[in-house]
Amino acid sequence: MGKGLITCLIAGQYTIYDLDDKTTSIAKPRGIFRIKGVSPKVGDFVEYSKNAGDATITKIEKRTTDLVRPAICNISLAFVVFSVKEPELNLNLLDRFITILEFYRITPILVFNKWDLLKTDSEINEVTKVIDYYKHIGYTTIITSAKDNLLNELSDHMKNNISVITGQSGVGKSSLLNIIDPELEIKTNDISKALNRGKHTTRHVELLPINNGWVADTPGFGTMEFIDMNEVDISHSFIEFFEHSSSCKYNGCLHINEPHCKIKELVNDSEILKSRYENYLQFVEEVKNKRKW
Ligand code: GDP
Ligand code: ZN
Repeated sequence: MGKGLITCLIAGQYTIYDLDDKTTSIAKPRGIFRIKGVSPKVGDFVEYSKNAGDATITKIEKRTTDLVRPAICNISLAFVVFSVKEPELNLNLLDRFITILEFYRITPILVFNKWDLLKTDSEINEVTKVIDYYKHIGYTTIITSAKDNLLNELSDHMKNNISVITGQSGVGKSSLLNIIDPELEIKTNDISKALNRGKHTTRHVELLPINNGWVADTPGFGTMEFIDMNEVDISHSFIEFFEHSSSCKYNGCLHINEPHCKIKELVNDSEILKSRYENYLQFVEEVKNKRKW
């Protein structure tokens, strides 16, 4: 009997990393039974028995977090990677990632990569202002450059954690991971473009060992729509809105048309980032429209 972490699931075959002897076993489909209707998934801590090459999962520990797409659990942190240029910083996507992660109770760490591409003071000031805002409302922000080897802070956060790294294609996720651990040899976009084929030939979730922690590389969360969320969930996921909402006149104010709304006041006073309020309105509209279908 051993205690392990499921690091990979391909075609019904589970890879189990033993937490004591650090060996890896494969649990074949026939060796796995459903435990009270729950299928094991990547990120699960399990008890398992080894028998003649086969492993059988006998118990799944309680999950701290649980995602459906990607199917992964017990993630505590999500590194959301953006490039400050090429592609341009996309604040709508950034707020979208944060909203979804807040809903699933996963801590977002905002990574601003390709810092080396900012050349002028005005470019730097503009991006710094935005980063400072997110820092001010409580998020951990990290500035990185794969080109200049600026990533110690990022690799420190990966230590002893199970995390995902996510973000648009081309922002530099693979480049950053490859520098932190060259043995990972993750294909970067340059190479896959040269080979004229997609970057991920197999679409599966896998936890990669990195810096005494584990990280899964995933492009996004499902369709990046707000599945299972309503407008109240959205309003709670904008953490600085939630914090100030007790000063709104109406209980349960959604900060749209209600009079004496503290949030709208703060937007007008530039205390809340305008783009963030606009994205908020868009997201609320999206979940309302979804319900009409
Ligand atoms: P991914 O799709 O997010 O995994 O992005 P890649 O790691 O494949 O990087 C996409 C492109 O951006 C590649 O051409 C990289 O060489 C380049 N790149 C990645 N990080 C940086 C960086 O910090 N600075 C600069 N200038 N280019 C970068
Ligand atoms: Zn309000």
